[in-house]
Amino acid sequence: MPVELVKCGMCGKATVVEQGGRHVCPMCLDEEHRLYVSVRTLIRDHEGDGLSIKDVAEMLEVDENKITHLVDNGYFSLALRGLRPYDR
Ligand SMILES: [Zn+2]
Repeated sequence: MPVELVKCGMCGKATVVEQGGRHVCPMCLDEEHRLYVSVRTLIRDHEGDGLSIKDVAEMLEVDENKITHLVDNGYFSLALRGLRPYDR
C-alpha cells in the first residue's frame, strides 16, 4: 500500500498515511473521532440554522482548522448538509 507524508489536520505534525487516506496522525485518531461526534451532535441540534465552520468551532471551543479538517476529509458529506463550508 503506497503511503504519503502529510500534515496532520488536527495537530499539524508531519505524519505518514496511506495514500488517499485521512490526514491525521495516530496520536490524534481518538480526538478526531470525539470531535466528529461532538460536531455531529451539534449540527443535529441546530438543524436548519446554517452553521458555518467558524460557528461550530466557537461553540465547541476548538480550533477552526480542526473542523475544516473534518469537513475536508468528507466526514460530513451527509450529516452536515446544513453546514456552510466557509464564511462568505
Ligand atoms: Zn496529529
